[in-house]
Amino acid sequence: MLDETGRVGDGVTVFDDGIPALTNLDPVLLEALRQAATDAASDGVVFVLNSGWRSPEYQDQLLREAISEYGSLDEAARWVATAATSPHVSGDAVDIGHVDATAWLSEHGAEYGLCQIYDNEPWHYELRPEAIEHGCPATYADPTQDPRMQQ
Ligand SMILES: [Zn+2]
Repeated sequence: MLDETGRVGDGVTVFDDGIPALTNLDPVLLEALRQAATDAASDGVVFVLNSGWRSPEYQDQLLREAISEYGSLDEAARWVATAATSPHVSGDAVDIGHVDATAWLSEHGAEYGLCQIYDNEPWHYELRPEAIEHGCPATYADPTQDPRMQQ
């Protein structure tokens, strides 16, 4: 189903077409992701898309839900960014399931420039093109350690 907020239904993979959560991503990120997923498929691994691009409204809603779940903005910030700072809103991040896919990416992602950014979010991947030659940069413990979130 087409959802302009960037919500993703069950069972969506990175190969689905016409889904704003995918089509609004940085095209270079999407291409790297699909290339990795193609190679992972020969190992029997499927990349399920749990989240990709999000509209600012959807991101705000997720943050509100996280604040009520975690009890404070400070605690919620360890998991959910604001619409102004989230790399999902800018089209620069994907959340991939399931565990076999994130394990595959953890081992092979750097070859495609796909890097885990936060220790506490093994499903969250972003494009770091320099990783292809130099490996992924050091991870942050959680998003509150990320300088991009200090806005
Ligand atoms: Zn994410």
